[in-house]
Amino acid sequence: MKTLTGTNLPNRREFIRQLGLSGAALLFAPDFVGHWAADTRTDVIVLGGGIAGLYAALLLQEKGYTVRVLEASERIGGRLFTLDHLPGKPEIGGVEVGDGYKTILALAEKVGVAITPPEAQPPQARELALFVRGKLLHAKDWATDAQANLLDPNEKNILPPLLESHYTMKNIPFKQLDEWYGGSFRQLDVSYAEFLKIHGASDEAIRLIDVNANILGVQQTSALHVLRSLSLRIIGGSKTTLRIAGGSSRLPQAIATKLKQSPETNKVVTRIVQKKNRVEVHCADKSKYTARAVICTLPFPSLRKLQMEIPLTELQQEAISQMPYIPISQVHMRPLIPYWEKDKLPAAMWTDGPLGRIFAIYNQQGEVERLTAWMVGKEAIQFDQLTKEQAINFVTEQMEKMRPASRGAFEIIYINSWSANPFQGGAYHQYAPGQINRWVPHFARPAGNVCFAGEHTCFTHTGMEGAAISAERAVGEVEQLLST
Ligand SMILES: Cc1cc2nc3c(=O)[nH]c(=O)nc-3n(C[C@H](O)[C@H](O)[C@H](O)COP(=O)(O)OP(=O)(O)OC[C@H]3O[C@@H](n4cnc5c(N)ncnc54)[C@H](O)[C@@H]3O)c2cc1C
Repeated sequence: MKTLTGTNLPNRREFIRQLGLSGAALLFAPDFVGHWAADTRTDVIVLGGGIAGLYAALLLQEKGYTVRVLEASERIGGRLFTLDHLPGKPEIGGVEVGDGYKTILALAEKVGVAITPPEAQPPQARELALFVRGKLLHAKDWATDAQANLLDPNEKNILPPLLESHYTMKNIPFKQLDEWYGGSFRQLDVSYAEFLKIHGASDEAIRLIDVNANILGVQQTSALHVLRSLSLRIIGGSKTTLRIAGGSSRLPQAIATKLKQSPETNKVVTRIVQKKNRVEVHCADKSKYTARAVICTLPFPSLRKLQMEIPLTELQQEAISQMPYIPISQVHMRPLIPYWEKDKLPAAMWTDGPLGRIFAIYNQQGEVERLTAWMVGKEAIQFDQLTKEQAINFVTEQMEKMRPASRGAFEIIYINSWSANPFQGGAYHQYAPGQINRWVPHFARPAGNVCFAGEHTCFTHTGMEGAAISAERAVGEVEQLLST
């Protein structure tokens, strides 16, 4: 027998016919009317309960619309994710709030979340050990080390983590936040490797930039994308970075408490269908919702798995299916013995090996509370192939190989991969060479009654500020849609 739930739900007219009831009689069938009416009365469904989705929902609610937020995972917040259950509450997603993030700062104030300067770090937090070409050394010895430092003579004094800004920051041509696409800088939509070569970087400098830059790889990334991201430090209006008090998750949680209808978690959206004047949204648990408009904030690797029966342009389909996302994997470690006191080198490390960078996080007493290995690009992709047990053995072996003193001196407390997360598929979006000229800004336009938001759809800022700005834009588009 067919049930009256989920996708088996007959349409309204068919239902009336099946019951043999008139519309007036239906008024006295409160359960059913309540259920169906609740669905049709929703003005807007927001897909995704990250910062973009939650902020969009709050704005819509303030404008008098009814809103339902559907989130696939068991928690809200998306890429703002504080591991509250672990000592020191490590963050695995966004942390830094630029002091020029006007939208995020205003939003935090509105929902009563404090944004504060980061805790002061001891002087040793600024020190760095290097592990390059199989050699462990103090960063202060880099310039003169003949085994590790194979840079050209004019580059030898530049530390590996500073090579990227050395070759890029001075060559940023934009003066305005929205100047990077669609205009005079089209010729920069080539590979970052080509750009670096043109600006005189040696092959070794390009290799070192490739290892740890927060991109997919210098060949796979548009130089225009990198220039745009780094330009935000100069023209984005942020001089210093702040933190969300109590952890990044506090902001999405505070927004959610302001929503009349709580975001619904464990709602994996699988299909979006444009009907005449409304949109149907289907979930993996067979529930179905309908609304006059949808704001879709899903990262494209997740969105591309959906069945989309909405009027997307060819270009939008291409962007959704091809936009690259940056693989980032992190391993959080708790030191058991301060092994850096044994080998007399700084705890933090920059390496050209498979563990990438090892950040040292200090507590208020000036002790190293945590070490975080941060792998990006192909290192992260390779690491993600390992089982949990293999990953633990791999990290332990690699740490010992680089720093024998670390043997038995730490324990792994958490491993996270943003690419392996089925609802993310990467840490953040980027553009391959040629994609900016082809896609931006057209791919983020509404498709029927579906509007798009999320960090990947903002063309001024990136990160959480970009996500919040995109929400404001999408809400404006919904208002226009619903007013016609
Ligand atoms: C490691 C890392 C470090 C970062 N550092 C910073 C930083 O220091 N400063 C900064 O400003 N930004 C930073 N960011 C970026 C920032 O966190 C993001 O830009 C921002 O949180 C993105 O918000 P969003 O709402 O666009 O996307 P998300 O937060 O990803 O929200 C999208 C939501 O959609 C859900 N979803 C996906 N598929 C489905 C589906 N099928 N059905 C229903 N729901 C679905 C997801 O579960 C997710 O909750 C960082 C990100 C990462 C990963």
